[in-house]
Amino acid sequence: MSQTTAPETRALLPALLKGLAQRCPNCGSGRLFARYLETVTQCEACGEELHHHRADDAPPYFSVLIIGHIVIPGLLLVEQLWSPPTWVQLSIWLPLSCLLIWQVLPRVKGALVGLQWANRMHGFGDEQSAGIR
Ligand SMILES: [Zn+2]
Repeated sequence: MSQTTAPETRALLPALLKGLAQRCPNCGSGRLFARYLETVTQCEACGEELHHHRADDAPPYFSVLIIGHIVIPGLLLVEQLWSPPTWVQLSIWLPLSCLLIWQVLPRVKGALVGLQWANRMHGFGDEQSAGIR
């Protein structure tokens, strides 16, 4: 007779924060990314497998959502206050948008990997659920 035990609960907020810091959601000390957005296969510090994530299109979606809420109000405020020529607006907001995307995208992806890890999604659970999607 086999006896199943419930897997231990993983705290969501610490996993999200470790992912935001681009660190392993399990230990918080190993790097999450080998390159800009390429996750490592396995944590170098604790050995946690990190290749299970399925972030897909969610990081760009949430990044654009966040940055749009920063850039668009700023653009509209500058337009209302000073009405500068279009080239001035473009020279401010296009580089700022690129800079923000460059910085925000890996952090959002890290947080989403942390979310999936904490909820044992996509194979981040135990051996029994590793093959189930
Ligand atoms: Zn780790």
